[in-house]
Amino acid sequence: MDQTPESAPAPPRRPAWPGPPQMLGGRVAPALGTRSGRIPKDLPEWERPSLWATLKGLLVTQGNFFKHLWSRDRLDKPTIQYPEQRRAYSLRFRGIHQLTKRPDGSLKCVACFMCATACPAECITIEAGEYPDKRIEKYPVRFDIDMLRCVMCGLCVDACPEEAIVMTGDYEMAAFTREETVYPISLLADRPQLASTPPGYRPRYEPGPALVR
Ligand code: SF4
Ligand code: SF4
Repeated sequence: MDQTPESAPAPPRRPAWPGPPQMLGGRVAPALGTRSGRIPKDLPEWERPSLWATLKGLLVTQGNFFKHLWSRDRLDKPTIQYPEQRRAYSLRFRGIHQLTKRPDGSLKCVACFMCATACPAECITIEAGEYPDKRIEKYPVRFDIDMLRCVMCGLCVDACPEEAIVMTGDYEMAAFTREETVYPISLLADRPQLASTPPGYRPRYEPGPALVR
C-alpha cells in the first residue's frame, strides 16, 4: 500500500555535532605541518619571522621611499593642479551621458527602452510619448538617468539602435541634493558643459571633435 506523507516514517534525526576535532578531550591539537602550531615546518629559513627579517623589510621600504622621493621620473610627472589643469582622457572615457539630436534639433531617441532594458543598474527611467501620426516613431516625454546608481558601464550606448545616447568626457557630477543627481532630458541633452566637453565612449562614431552634439 502506498504511504501518504502523513503515514511515511520520519527521517532519522541527524546526530548532534560533536564540535571541532581539536577541541575533543579539552585540549587543542597543533595544526598539521607546524612546529609550534604557527610556523610551517617546511617554511624556508629566509621566510621565517625574525628581528633580522623585520629590519630587512624596513630597509627595503626606506630604500624605495627615498628612491621615488628624488627620482627624475617623479619630477617629470608632477601633480595635476585640478581644476585649473585637467588630464586628457581617452576617447573611450565613460563620462556623463549625452542625448544626441537630429539636424532639426529634435532628440534622436525613439523611446524604445532598449537602453533601460540593458542597464544593469536599472537607473534609466523613460516615459514614451506618441505623435498623432502613428507612422512616426515615439519620443521620450521623460528620460532620466540616476547618476548615483549608474556604474558608467556604457551598455546603454551599446544597446541603443539609434545612436541617440552616447557618453562624454564630462565627469563632474557633484551635487548638493539627491534630486540633483537624477539627470533629466534638459541636462542630458542641453547642459552647458557639453560645449567644452571632450567626447567619450561612442563606439559607432569616428573619434574626433566633429561629432553630433
Ligand atoms: S552606463 Fe551602464 S549603468 Fe549607467 S545608465 Fe548606461 S547602462 Fe545604466
Ligand atoms: S536612448 Fe536609444 S535605446 Fe534608449 S530609448 Fe532612446 S532610442 Fe531607445
